[in-house]
Amino acid sequence: MSLWNFYQKSFHLKKLTKSMEVDTLIIGGGLTGLTTFYYLKEKSSICLVEANTLGSGVSQNTTGKITFLQGNIYHKLEKNISYKVAKDYLKSQLHAIFLLKDIIKKEKISCDLDEVDSYVYAQNKKEIVNLKQEKTFLENQGIKVYENKKSDISGLYSISVNQTYVFNPIKFLNGLIELLPREKMFEHTKIYKIIPKNNKYYCIFDKGYIIANKVIVACHYPFFQSFLLPLKSHIEKSYIVAYKVKEKKNYSGITVSNPGFSYRYYQDKEKAYKICLGQSHNTAIKQNDVQNFQKVIKQFQINSNDIVSVWSNMDIVTQDQLPFIGEFKKNFYLATGFNTWGMTNGIIAAKILADNILNFSNPYADLFCLKKKNFYKFKNFFLNVGSNFYAFIKSKRKQKKWYSKNLKFINLNGQSIAIYVDSDKIEHSVYTTCPHLGCSLVFNEAEKTWDCPCHSSRFDIDGHCLKGPSKFDITYKKK
Ligand SMILES: Cc1cc2nc3c(=O)[nH]c(=O)nc-3n(C[C@H](O)[C@H](O)[C@H](O)COP(=O)(O)OP(=O)(O)OC[C@H]3O[C@@H](n4cnc5c(N)ncnc54)[C@H](O)[C@@H]3O)c2cc1C
Repeated sequence: MSLWNFYQKSFHLKKLTKSMEVDTLIIGGGLTGLTTFYYLKEKSSICLVEANTLGSGVSQNTTGKITFLQGNIYHKLEKNISYKVAKDYLKSQLHAIFLLKDIIKKEKISCDLDEVDSYVYAQNKKEIVNLKQEKTFLENQGIKVYENKKSDISGLYSISVNQTYVFNPIKFLNGLIELLPREKMFEHTKIYKIIPKNNKYYCIFDKGYIIANKVIVACHYPFFQSFLLPLKSHIEKSYIVAYKVKEKKNYSGITVSNPGFSYRYYQDKEKAYKICLGQSHNTAIKQNDVQNFQKVIKQFQINSNDIVSVWSNMDIVTQDQLPFIGEFKKNFYLATGFNTWGMTNGIIAAKILADNILNFSNPYADLFCLKKKNFYKFKNFFLNVGSNFYAFIKSKRKQKKWYSKNLKFINLNGQSIAIYVDSDKIEHSVYTTCPHLGCSLVFNEAEKTWDCPCHSSRFDIDGHCLKGPSKFDITYKKK
């Protein structure tokens, strides 16, 4: 449970129970899908479907920093692609911040938006050199950058900027949902397949199909294979701890290193919290979830009595550090690969896709378009393919240390089944193969979930799918 769960409103929206036809269908009710719907809400023939409940995906588990200072991204983009791409990416992030603030102000959404300074820390000489180049790049774009001002982490080289923000992402989504037509949003409606036919798309769900002229897929990791995302990205997992503090501070920070760490503060009406994230890693390399949480607690010297919630989250990291946003096939749109910066990239995606549907031009459409050829280094491409393959093979070998001592495995007609015995001696049985692309699932002892190391699907202890791209559960019921 993330800290934001405590603020989640239940909207009790209907599940779609019969087929229907619309002009535009949005699949996915996270920050990206809901903001796209917000920009398109005047359209008469539109609907949004969500597999679970609105706002229950990755957006509910973010740290909620809204910033253009994202590690040393501009230095990387300039070095690996071009100065122009780095410059355009900066402009897109500044524009996204403007758009988000504009919605919050115009619609009077109460989401505890706070202006803060953003810090980035370097931990070794090479990182210091890169961070100094980041500073130079930003200054050349007219942005005031500070060195080594006050911050929570002393002894490290850091740069910081003003006019960045933090907010409560779930309060923002709650506010957005209130503005949207309820009769056009459906919860617990998962799309399993999309079939193109006669210039329309037939989007199949368990009770029928939605026929749409235009389809926007905003479901984090696409559930269909044709976009070949596994070859273009890897999954990054991070561990987050939220705990009570005496007062909030008006800055947030992140390191450029890997495993990196980051923090921000949050204040609601009653209490102040610090939210710390650490031990980020490519899921191809499994680490011990319990130990990772403990390391974050130790690193930030957190008193266990103050802890309010702990959770992990996974995001998609693309080869060139740029998201994929745009038209995949005619009238079929996709927004994914936000590189852990989905608060800004989700907003810019929503605007690009809405502009496209409304036939407006958008200055950032080309930067993120799906056909971009920024696979800047063959090395990176092979590293990605290699790490996916490695995750697949390694998951298949079922190393014992990946599992809990409370688990036992049986093999039934060639299928591996795991039985977890909880503290009340109740057995929970699941198939251990991910229905998406066949990776072997890894048990997350800390959160009692089954996680896919290849493409970020997650299942609860009884095998119900919590997060795609898997479209199916892994529940095993004894006959
Ligand atoms: C640890 C961590 C910290 C982060 N912190 C930050 C931060 O501080 N700042 C920042 O800018 N970004 C941050 N991010 C990134 C950001 O949280 C995500 O990129 C963003 O929330 C993704 O939003 P989304 O709407 O695309 O996906 P989601 O919020 O996951 O929404 C997708 C929705 O689609 C639904 N869905 C999936 N499949 C189907 C289907 N077949 N049919 C119907 N519905 C479906 C899902 O149930 C889900 O609700 C962080 C990410 C991580 C992992």
